[in-house]
Amino acid sequence: MRFASLGSGSRGNALVVEAGATCLLLDCGFGPREIAFKLDRLGLSPEALSGILVTHEHSDHVAGAFKLAARHRLAVWMTHGTLMASSAGCGESPRVELIDGQQPFQVGDLEIHPFPVPHDAREPVQFVFSDGRHRLGVVTDLGSSTPHVERMLTGCDALVLECNHDAGMLQRGGYPPHLKRRIAGRFGHLDNAAAAALLAGLDTSRLQHLIAAHLSQQNNLPALARSAMAEVLGCAEQWVGVADQDTGFSWRALI
Ligand SMILES: [Zn+2]
Ligand SMILES: [Zn+2]
Repeated sequence: MRFASLGSGSRGNALVVEAGATCLLLDCGFGPREIAFKLDRLGLSPEALSGILVTHEHSDHVAGAFKLAARHRLAVWMTHGTLMASSAGCGESPRVELIDGQQPFQVGDLEIHPFPVPHDAREPVQFVFSDGRHRLGVVTDLGSSTPHVERMLTGCDALVLECNHDAGMLQRGGYPPHLKRRIAGRFGHLDNAAAAALLAGLDTSRLQHLIAAHLSQQNNLPALARSAMAEVLGCAEQWVGVADQDTGFSWRALI
């Protein structure tokens, strides 16, 4: 199994997970042309995709999903709540497969374990992927952790974990008060310290990759996210990856 990011942050998110002959796109917050360009950088094309999974209806995750799916006849997997909240603007009608937010399902060589998360969307989920040998947990939009989130993420071989903001930078920054409250709230986004606390509660003994994701460009710095994560793991800061808004991160393999 291997995975890579096409970009991560409030201006768009997309990640690819590949196992055997199956390659899934997780979220599609970029337009079809940009996605094709970004896939090309990873040696992929839209035709190589087995389908698209969508975590929730926020535009940085769903903006290009229906267009890309319609153009390349790809299936889209999402919860009913996400479909209801995002279909109004989709215009085109690709094949949508509704998922139960707590029920694992299989797409080709990938086993997909969705789990519900506290976030200000209709029925948001995040995912753990497995090829039967390794588990990859991806959490990009999470206001606060829950015991269930921790049960899903513990013992993973790779984690992509939201480190949205530094609490101090957010409070000192220029966002309007209501936006600051939303981001910092229990249904908003994880700050570095909350992500570190979540990580500290997990079994990380199998962890081969840890990547901080969905960093705010105004309210966080890669170095702050890295040092918060490295302190928990007791590893070198450079070992912790950071997903970039424009370039994501390149292939990471689980061996
Ligand atoms: Zn987001
Ligand atoms: Zn969101």
